Amino acid sequence: MSQAIVGLELPDLQETLGQDQPAFRARQVYDAIYRQKVTDLTQITSLPLNLRKELASKAAVGLPEAAAEYQSKDGTRRYLLKLQDQRTVEAVLMPEEGRDTICISSQVGCPVNCQFCLTALMGLERNLTAGEIVGQVLFIMRAHGISTESDRLNIVMMGMGEPLLNLPNVIKATRLLADPAGIGISPRRITLSTAGIVPKMAELGREPVRPKLAISLNASSEEQRRELMPITRKYSLKDLLAACKAYPLRPWEKLTFEYVLLKGVNDSDADARRVVKLLAHLNAKVNLIALNPGPGIAFETPDDERVHAFQAIVRRAMPCFVRKPRGRDIFAACGQLKREGVAGG
Ligand code: SAH
Repeated sequence: MSQAIVGLELPDLQETLGQDQPAFRARQVYDAIYRQKVTDLTQITSLPLNLRKELASKAAVGLPEAAAEYQSKDGTRRYLLKLQDQRTVEAVLMPEEGRDTICISSQVGCPVNCQFCLTALMGLERNLTAGEIVGQVLFIMRAHGISTESDRLNIVMMGMGEPLLNLPNVIKATRLLADPAGIGISPRRITLSTAGIVPKMAELGREPVRPKLAISLNASSEEQRRELMPITRKYSLKDLLAACKAYPLRPWEKLTFEYVLLKGVNDSDADARRVVKLLAHLNAKVNLIALNPGPGIAFETPDDERVHAFQAIVRRAMPCFVRKPRGRDIFAACGQLKREGVAGG
């Protein structure tokens, strides 16, 4: 397996090229990989031919390959991307009028055992490297000719995996995604979603370049959350809310709370009122997601009326939106990523 260049920052590139090479050579490679998005090192024509050849003999760009691709009737595309070790992860492109959103994975599988999520059934296989996280974005930008100069592009780390359990790689990937000299996506347009790994939240808050923080709340009480998200036995709702209160928001930032609505389980008016109470002292907004069903998931999707009644209660206290399901027909929606085909079986 040759060394992957995607995922390297300037000092790493300098080391790969050799310390005897002038610093501008590392910058040329950086520009070629992250701004021009070359797929082959021999395409870096700014480098002298012998250096290009030498680099290509020991390294490769290292972008993932598409093992499968599915297109939804709503325009959503789901990609099964193959990594160097033949394992696969999913990434999803959601095009909209005037903006695109790319949803990427942070781990192969996931160790957090949420009862309503298909990825949970895989368990954790391994963490992704920074290069494998960034590679998903570069792959989709290339495949669809998306440019950060002309297109509004949002990145959400809401695919497979728990990003806060792979924090160093997620942070390195964020620096690469956000670098104006490279890929150039503003950190305001990058969001990380966590199931609530409390001690890692403070760590994230100390990073100078970091994504916005979204938290999967999904329940209105400690007991209910413990049932639905067993991880919360370790990281309680009480501690989670304290970590949210202490989280250093930037002036333009709010905490986003995601709430999966499960029919007859956590979707009553009383649940909505409890959610308002839990979040009242935070600078928060709420995104509601009606359950995306899947094989092996023992919950049902509430009716639209119930979803809107829930929203109406929360909206009196704070901004509250209903997230439109995208790509349900190709198993691309939240909680449906499981590395398999359209049948999902
Ligand atoms: N592990 C992180 C990142 C995954 S984000 C986290 O938990 O936040 C995936 C989002 O989709 C989470 O908010 C999760 O609560 C939600 N989700 C999971 N399964 C779902 C399903 N079946 N239907 C709708 N949303 C789901």
